[in-house]
Amino acid sequence: MIFYINKTEWQILEVTEDEIVKLLQEKEENKIISAYGLCNYKSHEIWIDKAMCREQKYQTIVHELTHCYFWTYGVRFDEYPEEVVCDMEYGLLNFVGEILDKWKEIEQLKEDEKQ
Ligand SMILES: [Zn+2]
Repeated sequence: MIFYINKTEWQILEVTEDEIVKLLQEKEENKIISAYGLCNYKSHEIWIDKAMCREQKYQTIVHELTHCYFWTYGVRFDEYPEEVVCDMEYGLLNFVGEILDKWKEIEQLKEDEKQ
């Protein structure tokens, strides 16, 4: 599913957990053995494990969209005080809510097609 933030195009993709873990291991030094999703800043992709249940997918999408949102607007948590993050919350809520609603809509369409 394609979405836009700050005039840039991003995509949410469902992949296997193995693919997520493999990319995380390439990026990070510590050995990650399990993951629900990731936010790939270089390719503008959010990957989520396709084997998860519906609710876990929603939680993971929200988590990764939050990474995407703060990264896109240049927020680094070692530099910004809590008050700045709280001020950004309204924009974040709207952004995440809109994308999640669209995701659920597409999910519903796919289910309707199966019937
Ligand atoms: Zn995270």
